[in-house]
Amino acid sequence: MVVLSVPPEVTVILLDIEGTTTPIAFVKDTLFSYIRENVKDYLHAHWGEEECQEDVSLLRKQAEEDSHLDGAVLIPPRSDGADDTEQMIQAVVDNVCWQMALDRKTPALKQLQGHIWRAAFAAGTVKAEFFEDVVPAIRKWRQAGMKVYVYSSGSVEAQKLLFGYSTEGDILELFDGHFDTKIGHKIESESYRRIATSIGCSPNNILFLTDVTREANAAEEADVHVAVVVRPGNAGLTDDEKSYFNLITSFNELFLPSST
Ligand SMILES: [Mg+2]
Repeated sequence: MVVLSVPPEVTVILLDIEGTTTPIAFVKDTLFSYIRENVKDYLHAHWGEEECQEDVSLLRKQAEEDSHLDGAVLIPPRSDGADDTEQMIQAVVDNVCWQMALDRKTPALKQLQGHIWRAAFAAGTVKAEFFEDVVPAIRKWRQAGMKVYVYSSGSVEAQKLLFGYSTEGDILELFDGHFDTKIGHKIESESYRRIATSIGCSPNNILFLTDVTREANAAEEADVHVAVVVRPGNAGLTDDEKSYFNLITSFNELFLPSST
């Protein structure tokens, strides 16, 4: 097994999720398929709730802004009296599927998706998956005195669902904090400086683990230590990237000097 020694100044491990702790397929296939397959049932079950109606209003506004786009699906306004619920639900379903087919990330779409996932996780219908080395390694790091944070482009709210409702149960207590793109984009080095400031450490106290080399480059530019995580299902690396970066295929390959 390859062993990568963690530099002694490192006191914080910062984790990406997709492709690092969790198979990309779980996010891309399981979570997104769940929306497509269940959005209609969700709308039927929650239609009378204020939150659901707010989600629909946002989607309706977004649909109006999108009306010039090819294949755009409009959502009819609510008309008092007439029972047009079925028609409206179908329009919302069609709009959501249309947006998702284009891989759009509009706030309106993300908000409804977040609520559908929240219901699914809370009901135990969906459980987040981690590579088998992940949770035992995080426990070991914590025992060795490391702080562990998450930095993902998924919202902090979504991150908490993943770690709160996983195949390993609720493991939120294993994390000292969460960051999303509110602190900045993952391919901008300034984001990593802000994260260090927010944690109250210096960038070179942080080791960032990610599968995406552009993120690794940005972190390194900010003086953060990085290792690129190679997992089944991840995008391949070029030969240059393979020789340039420290690579690990499992969190077990990280060797903490403080744990000896
Ligand atoms: Mg990733």
